[in-house]
Amino acid sequence: MMYKRLLFILCMCCTTMLSQIKEESNHTLTVSDGPHIFIEDDKLIEKQIQNGKLTIRELPLSAYKTHYEAEKSSYTTDENIVALSDIHGQFDLAIELLKNNAVIDDDLNWIYEKGHLIIVGDIFDRGNKVTETLWFVYNLEIQAKQKGGKVHFLLGNHEYMVIHKDLRYIHEKYVTVCKIMNTSYDELYSGDTILGRWLRSKATMVKINDLMFVHGGISKEFLKSGFDISAINQTMRLSLDREKQEMKQSGFYNKYYGKNGPIWYRGYFYGNLKSEDIDSILSQIEASHLVVGHCSQDHVVQLFDKRIFGVDSSIKNGENGEVLHIDTSAFYRGTLNGEKIKFN
Ligand code: ZN
Repeated sequence: MMYKRLLFILCMCCTTMLSQIKEESNHTLTVSDGPHIFIEDDKLIEKQIQNGKLTIRELPLSAYKTHYEAEKSSYTTDENIVALSDIHGQFDLAIELLKNNAVIDDDLNWIYEKGHLIIVGDIFDRGNKVTETLWFVYNLEIQAKQKGGKVHFLLGNHEYMVIHKDLRYIHEKYVTVCKIMNTSYDELYSGDTILGRWLRSKATMVKINDLMFVHGGISKEFLKSGFDISAINQTMRLSLDREKQEMKQSGFYNKYYGKNGPIWYRGYFYGNLKSEDIDSILSQIEASHLVVGHCSQDHVVQLFDKRIFGVDSSIKNGENGEVLHIDTSAFYRGTLNGEKIKFN
């Protein structure tokens, strides 16, 4: 009797284990990702996963640009501007939003003419189509340039986190991807990869006319040591390849990566800033408006009499999202179905 019961328990355990293994391998079989392109001395190695199967092929070095110039920090334009942020791997929703707001056509081609599109950080983490989003932005940037327009992809805290090996927020799909590719997630974006080098050319803040765009925001505390946008962008860019531990040994980490730093700051939404504080910040950075992401809202919002705009419209939930349209005379919410609602 005892034996029978033991045997029964053993069988049950095996069945559960087997079904777990089967489920895991089924899951692996549905995973597709890439390409991820690794740069070697005399060639490129392209790795791609199709339905769980890894293919590796060699490409000539000339197949991709391997050097990316550092982005400029300031621009002037008479053209329209559109901004969104915190896509967090929600590729399909971001595409729908950009299509319906006439930035791209049905084939994902740039139709925004000479306008500027600004992605105010956080393409990485949470969702399962990060790679697709990155390549989409990579290609859109090339197309926009050909038409006289411009795509700006600013680095948010999640870009910095992944490159600094903080992988707490990656989607489980990428755990499988890394297993198949036998690599760590941050290695997919190292300085020896195409996307990694491209990311390392990006800015953390950009000024277009009198508008400043930055993922978290610019705090009074951050401004204590002055404000030189090009120097800050370069310092942040170089810090991507510094060790976290080394940065923490001085005040550097706290200033640039702390809660009052440009990629983590939430003070406009959750602080107790007064109108005069915003005036003082804007006057120090010589701007009239700040456009930030990082604090999730139901839609694009304005604060402090349109001096601050929050463009994190919770795209990360995969349900809804908005863009901010800016033309020479006004600001508008651009909804998912393409409606424009003016901020009065
Ligand atoms: Zn963020």
